[in-house]
Amino acid sequence: MAEQHRALITGSSRGIGRAIALRLAQDGHAVAGCYQRESEASRQTEADLRRLGVPYHLAECDVTQPDEVDRFVRAAEEALGPIDLLVNNAGITRDQPLVLGMPADWNAVLSTNLTGTWNLCRAMAFRFMKARSGVIVNMSSVAGIYGNAGQTAYAASKAGIIGLSRSLAKEVGRYGIRVNVVAPGFIETDMTGVLGTQIRDQALEQITLRRFGRSDEVADLVAFLLSERAAYITGQVFQVDGGITL
Ligand code: NAP
Repeated sequence: MAEQHRALITGSSRGIGRAIALRLAQDGHAVAGCYQRESEASRQTEADLRRLGVPYHLAECDVTQPDEVDRFVRAAEEALGPIDLLVNNAGITRDQPLVLGMPADWNAVLSTNLTGTWNLCRAMAFRFMKARSGVIVNMSSVAGIYGNAGQTAYAASKAGIIGLSRSLAKEVGRYGIRVNVVAPGFIETDMTGVLGTQIRDQALEQITLRRFGRSDEVADLVAFLLSERAAYITGQVFQVDGGITL
């Protein structure tokens, strides 16, 4: 059997984060996951992890708060042992044209998506450096590469994640630590569930494969990047977008 790892996934209660947590558990890895609020969805994820029979640690942790992040990482490592895989997936949108944008929305999006990612990387990087191993996957978006009208804050946060990840990859590569980025297109989750019919139809016309992606299709790529099969890949951005940007 392949080596068992201990993975920490932020935003594991729903959508893509939940699919990653379950995929890694199916592969036999222990899972630490966090979310903002306990909910029916987070309890469902817990039930599924329990059924899969892997060690797990799930808790509320607001990724925007460095102290909460440090406490969560300590508790996860007490429960599971040293974490060696990190997936920064927690994210929010507050879409609106810039001219209607409110500073509070800009701050919420930047602090959750970008500062949250930095907080977790900061909490884990020193541990990974001491262990001389560790793999990080950060969740960006095609909006962070190409931009998207109505998403100035979101796109800025997701572009920031790419700059953060490439820089961190250069800092920690010599310690045997890899950092990569996954940039999904439209994936069927609560985040895209709020889009109106018109926006969905417009998006479908632009997607080469003429459908939204599934969370498990993103999770498969993340699982690959976290695995030994990707041992020589670092500092890269991988789109999983059904060809929307072709
Ligand atoms: P989602 O269904 O809305 O789930 C978001 C997750 O993030 C939830 O678990 C949520 O926890 C958690 N979260 C939000 N704010 C948090 C905070 N401050 N602290 C801790 N956890 C927090 O989103 P999704 O569609 O799966 O997206 C996951 C990631 O993929 C995001 O980074 C998103 O930007 C990116 N992405 C998604 C798409 C797409 O089409 N869906 C496309 C490109 C990129 P609660 O349950 O407690 O709220």
